[in-house]
Amino acid sequence: MSIFDRFLPKKKPLEIKNNIPKEKETIKKTFSVYCHKHHGTSGSKLCPKCTALLATVMTKMNKCPYGITKPICDRCEIQCFGEKQTKEFMEIMRSAGTGMFFRHPIMAIKHKMASMSVDYSKHEMEKRQREKEKAREKLAQEKAKAKEKDRNK
Ligand code: SF4
Ligand SMILES: [Zn+2]
Repeated sequence: MSIFDRFLPKKKPLEIKNNIPKEKETIKKTFSVYCHKHHGTSGSKLCPKCTALLATVMTKMNKCPYGITKPICDRCEIQCFGEKQTKEFMEIMRSAGTGMFFRHPIMAIKHKMASMSVDYSKHEMEKRQREKEKAREKLAQEKAKAKEKDRNK
């Protein structure tokens, strides 16, 4: 540590925000919008099927293997709700999207931005992976060419 270090602004440790409570709120609202439209419920009530599915989702979120670093559930690779319930969950999240934009626009926009950020990170990771593979292939080809040259000398 040099003497000048004390005059430099101190780096803050990276803070990981716990977004789970907000995500849960968004999911609950999305379920309400969907259930009101498709199953004729109103207010804070949901039909038994949506209530059961929502309870599973909430329980699974509490035990999420990613902890507070979790991606949003509708962009998760693991999708731990089981095949049938994941399908139903995705259908609700997808088809209530427009309704959410009208009823809870800020929440809907934030959720959309979170989805886009997960998609972007995935895209970047895949791109880096492809670039690494290309570089490896190129190196292998160059090595093979060099060997061939040596043999022909
Ligand atoms: S779907 Fe993925 S992010 Fe959501 S609780 Fe399950 S493992 Fe965690
Ligand atoms: Zn319902």
